[in-house]
Amino acid sequence: MEMSGQEKALVLFSGGQDSATCLAWALERYRGVETIGFDYRQRHRVELDCRTKVLRCIREQMPTWSERLGEDHVIDLSILSHISDTALTREVEIAMGENGLPTSFVPGRNLVFLTFAGIVAYRRSCKHLVAGMCETDYSGYPDCRDATLKALQTAMNLGMDSEFVLHTPLMWIDKAETWMLAERLGGREFVDLITEETHTCYLGDREKRNPWGYGCGACPACQLRLKGWKTYSEQHRRDA
Ligand code: ZN
Repeated sequence: MEMSGQEKALVLFSGGQDSATCLAWALERYRGVETIGFDYRQRHRVELDCRTKVLRCIREQMPTWSERLGEDHVIDLSILSHISDTALTREVEIAMGENGLPTSFVPGRNLVFLTFAGIVAYRRSCKHLVAGMCETDYSGYPDCRDATLKALQTAMNLGMDSEFVLHTPLMWIDKAETWMLAERLGGREFVDLITEETHTCYLGDREKRNPWGYGCGACPACQLRLKGWKTYSEQHRRDA
């Protein structure tokens, strides 16, 4: 893959499958890659533990990427849990809300995350922002839409007088293709790392180990990950 000179990237890294794949995408492309995560008092802090673990594994086991992997920034956004009432921050059941959006929706979350990422990127001289939003099999979250993110890129560049480029490598691919992308970027070793150490389950289940990783297997996030894994592994068996 082509290297973009000495330019640096900041990756929004939550500890999930999607953002781990985005991190690999950036590590293959840029010489300097930093990561940012947000502590918004999510109901299950397991994600935050997973992100530390994934970063440690990359540093210890993947020498080429390890050289490029720079500082990790964790930003305290606990204020989000005070001002929004959702299934990701409280013991509310994950279901479809009256507005047609799941109760796991935190209004404006990605706008807040990206804006804070922009502030850190500005200070750290990172031109590229990389994030895992996806329109293909999302739950209708309006802040994952490509148009939202393009508008935000424009607003940030105007408002910070900067030239950020916001990359969303997963925008138009589905979960099976995300697994395939991970394999293309980091081989089976990286797929194994994602399976073992990333976290997707909305219920925070780290007890049940499935072929595709830990999780309850029933919540919408697990269902998506499972469906993608099935297609990916069937494809893989055909190619093998
Ligand atoms: Zn689950």
